[in-house]
Amino acid sequence: MKQRRSKKVAVEPARHGLGVFAKRHFQARRYVGRVRGRIVSDPNYSSHYCMDLGGDLSLEPGAPFRYLNHSCSPNCLLVLVQVEYEDGSPAEAEIWLEAARDIHPREELTIDYGWPVESAMPCDCGSPNCRGWIVGEGSLEAVAQAP
Ligand SMILES: [Zn+2]
Repeated sequence: MKQRRSKKVAVEPARHGLGVFAKRHFQARRYVGRVRGRIVSDPNYSSHYCMDLGGDLSLEPGAPFRYLNHSCSPNCLLVLVQVEYEDGSPAEAEIWLEAARDIHPREELTIDYGWPVESAMPCDCGSPNCRGWIVGEGSLEAVAQAP
């Protein structure tokens, strides 16, 4: 996977392995970046970095966002953007990372992995609201948007 330098985020050592850190301020509800990667349509697919997109869909993300860590109080969320061509036929879905609140430079960017129960593992994210397990209903919103 091609590594690209970003002015917005940096991959650096974090609480658990590597993490993604903000290099500048992000306003709440604003676009942080596009998560590029491979969308896998297989209910049995799993990998260390894959993100649950709901239904049978998973995303195998590329750098830098494959290094996003889980938090039970995440400051970012994933948004599935369904793009349509003008004739109404579906184009390739895009995954956007959006700020869930104001994010300051040097803060680690985190999402709620929202893993299904069968994939749950103990969580040590350090958040005061830690649920104790990395598990959830999935924080992905499907947004219909025309280009
Ligand atoms: Zn936690």
